[in-house]
Amino acid sequence: MRESVTNAYDVIIVGAGPAGLCAAMYAGRGMLKAVTIERGAPGGELLNTDLIEDYIGFASIKGWDLAQKMSEHATKFGADIVTDTVERIRKADDGWFDVETARGKVYRAPAVILTAGGTPVKLGVPGEQEYAGKGVSYCAVCDGAFFKGELLAVVGGGDAAVEEADYLTRYASKVYIVHRRDRFRASKILQERALANPKIDVIWNKRVIEIKGTEKGTDQLVLEDTATRARSTLKVGGVFIFIGFKPNTSVVDGHVKHDAAGYLITDDRMMTSIPGLFAAGDVRSQLTRQITTAVGDATTAAIAVEKYLATVKEREKAGVVS
Ligand code: NAP
Repeated sequence: MRESVTNAYDVIIVGAGPAGLCAAMYAGRGMLKAVTIERGAPGGELLNTDLIEDYIGFASIKGWDLAQKMSEHATKFGADIVTDTVERIRKADDGWFDVETARGKVYRAPAVILTAGGTPVKLGVPGEQEYAGKGVSYCAVCDGAFFKGELLAVVGGGDAAVEEADYLTRYASKVYIVHRRDRFRASKILQERALANPKIDVIWNKRVIEIKGTEKGTDQLVLEDTATRARSTLKVGGVFIFIGFKPNTSVVDGHVKHDAAGYLITDDRMMTSIPGLFAAGDVRSQLTRQITTAVGDATTAAIAVEKYLATVKEREKAGVVS
């Protein structure tokens, strides 16, 4: 049995990463009755990033520090951040959303801003699950310090892989970037920095097909050449996998328009194909996913929600259910 929440809200914000916190700050300033539901600590992916150097106004700031600043800023303007996991977002017959959580609560509002980010894509190879937390990691900042003086592998060729490989060299004796192609998709500046790092070696055109180890943890990778299919092994004490993120959109009950990779398609007000359901940040289909774009999306979404609520009120007054 789910417990009903007696208080209804103007807007429910799902997730408290940069987008969620920014939306909460704007909602607070807009005098909206808002709740932000976050399963972990506020900050989202900021908490998995060591140094941030591309958030304008902060030439260099620790992810944790920026998360703290954003959280304090949102709270200063009245953000109500609750710790719980959203399990389902469903539009009810009266046009309001029921947001159900793991703690058995149901939050209700005519508008929802989904800022739930994404979860790391898994390689899906033997050993990955078995050695997760025992040498297999998806977070360099969280786990890098466990690998002092060791040989490490990073899998992937995007911004995350190249940037985190560079970060990991502060602990590891060497970091191999294993990439399935002969060029990176990472931005030039990150590539140049990593390629100039003497502790980084790139292994091009290879796939990881198995992660092996002992009861102590991972100790080697089995690689396959993408052209010849020749197999080889690579001795490592740990492997960090950065092959992309999957947007956390599965909580939405009902069909919502998305792109081929599953990111939600919105209009220029950040509204999805479900009226009243807005999306901002890493869940949204767009060219790039940066902190700056996340907070930009969230600003638009929060302001658009204010305007949307005015139309809802008019419709409710007229007795129309959307
Ligand atoms: P991404 O840009 O999608 O890159 C994923 C990488 O993983 C690609 O190189 C891809 O190879 C590889 N890959 C995907 N599936 C694979 C598989 N099954 N086996 C082996 N390799 C696989 O993802 P991301 O690096 O996580 O970045 C996500 C977004 O966050 C991007 O928009 C990025 O710009 C942003 N980001 C920015 C920064 C920054 O600016 N400081 C830092 C981190 C992330 P292919 O290239 O062959 O497809």
